[in-house]
Amino acid sequence: MTTPRLRASLDGLPAYKAGQGPATRSDLVAYKISSNENPYPPLPGVMDAVMRAAADMNRYPDPFSTRLIAALAERFDVPAEHLALGTGSVALCGQLVDAVADPGDEVMYAWRSFEAYPIWTQIAGARSVQIPLLPDERHDLDAMADAVTDRTRLIFVCSPNNPTGQVVHRDELTRFLDRVPSDVLVVLDEAYVEFADDPRVPDGIEMYRDRPNVAVLRTFSKAYGLAALRVGFAIAHEPVAQALRKLALPFGISTIAEEAALASLEREPELLERVAELSRARAAMVASLRDQGWVVAEQQANFVWLRLGEQALDFAAACETQGLTVRPFAGEGVRVTIAEPEANARFLTVANEWLHDQAASAG
Ligand SMILES: *Cc1c(COP(=O)(O)O)cnc(C)c1O
Repeated sequence: MTTPRLRASLDGLPAYKAGQGPATRSDLVAYKISSNENPYPPLPGVMDAVMRAAADMNRYPDPFSTRLIAALAERFDVPAEHLALGTGSVALCGQLVDAVADPGDEVMYAWRSFEAYPIWTQIAGARSVQIPLLPDERHDLDAMADAVTDRTRLIFVCSPNNPTGQVVHRDELTRFLDRVPSDVLVVLDEAYVEFADDPRVPDGIEMYRDRPNVAVLRTFSKAYGLAALRVGFAIAHEPVAQALRKLALPFGISTIAEEAALASLEREPELLERVAELSRARAAMVASLRDQGWVVAEQQANFVWLRLGEQALDFAAACETQGLTVRPFAGEGVRVTIAEPEANARFLTVANEWLHDQAASAG
């Protein structure tokens, strides 16, 4: 008996496996610091908006999310037609690839960067062109511009970069955008931009305004703390924004998600105060790690990256025994989300002990 024929481009894709829950230890509160989630609970007004919207769950949502689009257009001073919503900005990454790449076309991005880029590229049957990060973990924008071919359709620039945490700078990004052909779409993935405090960080939305081939991705999942509700947005000129709307999942943005996002925009000052607190905690974490003797590259998101190389999995296992689930990338490094103060403090203790154990075993 045969089985249904699946597309060959699915071969080798990671089949989604549910992540392991944190190791349970009765004596320790477990913390999942592996997904860059916001540790704060929803603001009270956001919660109220969600509860009100939940009462309408028998109705389909507004398919155009008219109110949220209008609020975002006003907040960012862009035309409503330049906005497209997605079920998280990860979905928009896939829609952008589908919008521009035919089988065999090239999608370029730095590596290591966001894991969704190679997956969406492969699903589309397109070809990934991965440009290694510089030794200081930053994007090699010159090498990326050099690598553009007549098959290049899309370039992702992730800033701050997940999982390594660095930003591109305004001057180098401007030079890069001036070099990229105008028929190649450049996507500035700014999922963590609210956490960045380096004055050299560009505002992607300013970069997009006079460049028809630039699209910006933002999300309510990280700084705004709505990861479970799945709302992200793109800002792009026509025809890119329109293509995103054509490729969107119908009714993908629930009424609950739309209302939560609207309420969050209304409470942006309070939310951004929490974000500033997390950025301060990140700076303190980086300073403490360096004091311990760790080499840590500049960090601009709500996580820190430790380039542990072959020790990444062992280090993650050591964290797990202390009730901390971090995110290892085998052979490369470990990403650790800035979280509750107790989680941050415990992580620093584990990191310090690890260095001592290493020094002891090196004799
Ligand atoms: C988290 C993340 C996103 C989007 O997350 P959503 O929850 O899908 O909005 C996009 N890009 C990067 C680099 C991320 O880390």
